[in-house]
Amino acid sequence: MTNSDLILVAGGGGFIGGHLVADLRAKGYTNIRSVDIKPVSEWFQVFPDVDNRRLDLREMDACRNATKGVRQLFNLAADMGGMGFIEFNKAACMISVLINTHLLLAARENGVERFFYASSACVYNADKQMDANVTPLREQDAYPAMPEDGYGWEKLFSERMCRHFTEDFGLETRVARFHNVYGPHGTYDGGREKAPAAICRKVIEAKRSGRHEIEIWGDGEQTRSFMYIDDCLFGMNRLMRSEVREPINLGSDELVTINRLVDIAEAIAGIKLKRRYDLSAPKGVRGRNSDNTLIKAKLGWAPAISLETGLATTYAWIHDQLAAAARGRAAG
Ligand code: NAD
Repeated sequence: MTNSDLILVAGGGGFIGGHLVADLRAKGYTNIRSVDIKPVSEWFQVFPDVDNRRLDLREMDACRNATKGVRQLFNLAADMGGMGFIEFNKAACMISVLINTHLLLAARENGVERFFYASSACVYNADKQMDANVTPLREQDAYPAMPEDGYGWEKLFSERMCRHFTEDFGLETRVARFHNVYGPHGTYDGGREKAPAAICRKVIEAKRSGRHEIEIWGDGEQTRSFMYIDDCLFGMNRLMRSEVREPINLGSDELVTINRLVDIAEAIAGIKLKRRYDLSAPKGVRGRNSDNTLIKAKLGWAPAISLETGLATTYAWIHDQLAAAARGRAAG
């Protein structure tokens, strides 16, 4: 790759896609195309020197248009959100299969050399995630398959489609299984937000309103790991340059309960809140952590930014967004 070779970021209006475009620009790439279904005014990050296109990548013709002249492609486009979204939108999640399928076909037609697919820890077998004190998930734990209903099945199928495009057509594919990515410039309200952003927003709102209470989904003892966006970008870049063809975990292995996540957000805010647990809310698997043995062996690196560090930055950004929205409302 030279700096002027064309790179496509599919889903560039989204959280990770927006950061990736910013990162590629910062690395000196000058020929970037960013595509998303949302109007450009709604993208999380927009750069005027990038070829920004609004296209529905479920459509084959849109994928042909988006991939023309492209050498490397990052597919981060998907109809997705946190547990509150994927639990009630299984068909919508599965329809994202059209995006990856048509992008692969168009990439092959247009001679794309390398194709990145953003998979998810939701591909892992649910039976291995029943205990909060979970054994970290190794890549082989995706099989025998029993992934997250809807969203996870789409991801697992699309991973395999990448593999077969490599085997049968020689298209180089790279697949990362992201484990809960968080950071600034992402969704923090509206129903698609994930736990770190949702908890930050709730803590900020409680502090602003003076009602020192917080609602937590489940009993708060479910466990997860959360990867800060900078680690995600570093890992994607390293994987893309590597010769690793099999799906690989890209996630933090700092296991925390949701209660611990709330503790950290409270400490940043400098308050303590009364916790109300909603046991009927969507809560996902009981425990999930990333086993980073393979990524350390193959890439000589694993995510290491602590939740305390990453959440402080995320909290500050959401705080600024909410403050700006409140000023906007006050101004009429
Ligand atoms: P996001 O929702 O912020 O970004 C996805 C983008 O894809 C959105 O901007 C959306 O408008 C766009 N999109 C949806 N349908 C489209 C279509 N038909 N055509 C074109 N664009 C379309 O999500 P994100 O957090 O940035 O996630 C990026 C990728 O990483 C997704 O594939 C997601 O499944 C995967 N992933 C994310 C996480 C995480 O924690 N954020 C975890 C695991 C996997």
